[in-house]
Amino acid sequence: MALYSEKQISQLFELDKKHYLHPTTPIKQHQVNGPKFIFTEGKGVYLTDVYGDKYLDALASLWNVNIGHGRKEIAEAAYQQMSKLAYSSSFSNLSHDMVIKLSEKLSTLTPGDLNVFFYTSGGSESNDTAFKLVRHYWKLKGEPQKRKIIALDRAYHGITVGATSATGIPQFHDMAASLAPDFLHAAAHQTNCEQGDTTDPNYERSIRGLIESEGAETVAAVILEPIQGAGGIIISPDGYLEAVRRLCDEYGILLIADEVICGFGRTGKMFGVDNWEVVPDIMTLAKGITSGYIQLGAVAISERLRDELAIVSNDMLFHGFTYSGHPTACAVALKNIEIIENEKIVQHAKDMEAELFKGMCYLETKHDIVTKSRAKGLLGAFELYADKENRLPFEPAAMAAQKLVEECFKRKLIIRSITYNGTNIIAMSPPLIITKEEIETIISILSESISAVEKQLH
Ligand code: PLP
Repeated sequence: MALYSEKQISQLFELDKKHYLHPTTPIKQHQVNGPKFIFTEGKGVYLTDVYGDKYLDALASLWNVNIGHGRKEIAEAAYQQMSKLAYSSSFSNLSHDMVIKLSEKLSTLTPGDLNVFFYTSGGSESNDTAFKLVRHYWKLKGEPQKRKIIALDRAYHGITVGATSATGIPQFHDMAASLAPDFLHAAAHQTNCEQGDTTDPNYERSIRGLIESEGAETVAAVILEPIQGAGGIIISPDGYLEAVRRLCDEYGILLIADEVICGFGRTGKMFGVDNWEVVPDIMTLAKGITSGYIQLGAVAISERLRDELAIVSNDMLFHGFTYSGHPTACAVALKNIEIIENEKIVQHAKDMEAELFKGMCYLETKHDIVTKSRAKGLLGAFELYADKENRLPFEPAAMAAQKLVEECFKRKLIIRSITYNGTNIIAMSPPLIITKEEIETIISILSESISAVEKQLH
């Protein structure tokens, strides 16, 4: 049942146009059309809009609502915590019980000795924190010239100035006008090169090639997503993360894994790096840490790194956010992790991978334009090609992926397109509690929608 009258709904649309500047939205289009949807409620994998229409949220909203919408236990945990302690600072060596409990809990989940945590309000802040920490580390170790950060082409690390500079998607750079210095980009997934194959034609643009041309003594860290999310659901090939880990060890460079999307079960393991049993020196976390119920990010740091910092310096760590380790966010994260563990949600995501992949393979057999299906846990994608046999992409003007997203919206399915240079990717990352039947619903809506797009394009 609709919560609002027709008149109230049109007021909401007008007020949104008038007062709300939306993230990653064309401003002109918003001013003409207003917002696409106004949602008011969510339950499980479904969202309900102002008209009372239910949409299947095959993105977990922004890759984050891992335990699904509408979990009352989370609301209860937030209520209890807010009633007890509104806020407590962690500056100047102060602490509170919830941040201690969350840190201890996280240390039981993270790989290796990543047992020390710094808190932020999201992924970008976590990545900027990691960049500052690695530079601080090398400075204190007597190597202040080790400042450069190597990230990958098509990486997405967020929108603060440091995170934007690390991001490898050119459109984000255009808006920032000038970027932070000392960020470099390497071609992604050049496993051969990272293993030392200097004859590979991509060698110079590989991480190894860049380290050699820049000089290892100037490179502080490499940052990568185990699976690139916003860049197009690009799964690291087997052997790649292992090769980068060895490369970093060989040259004395720190490895940062951006687990903002992959963390907390998304890929069928607790963390993305667990798929390849690689242990980074630093992991950045956000999104799934609270399943999006409240803002929280974290930086997991190896005990070795923290101990080395403690030995070499008695200096203050001049870094911190007012909301570092907010008690309510910590209480929500603890409850979220309890739900993930009690309901065996990580294993469920692993089990559902096969269903999602099977569904996309069915779409490939049924539709000439569908190809390149891939999934790791419940992070999946396929691509649209004008001629898949001959790998001919659609013209960008055809807007194939955008058209498919629109057709899905009409059929009450929320998915996302990622398009660049003629590449048309359709990305999915549903809540991890999704059932086999709900995945079948996604596939059947996709199939109908693809047929509609095929008619428009041929
Ligand atoms: N890192 C990755 C891999 C992300 O996907 C995102 C956001 O989508 C971020 C960092 C930035 O996180 P936030 O938007 O919470 O700042």
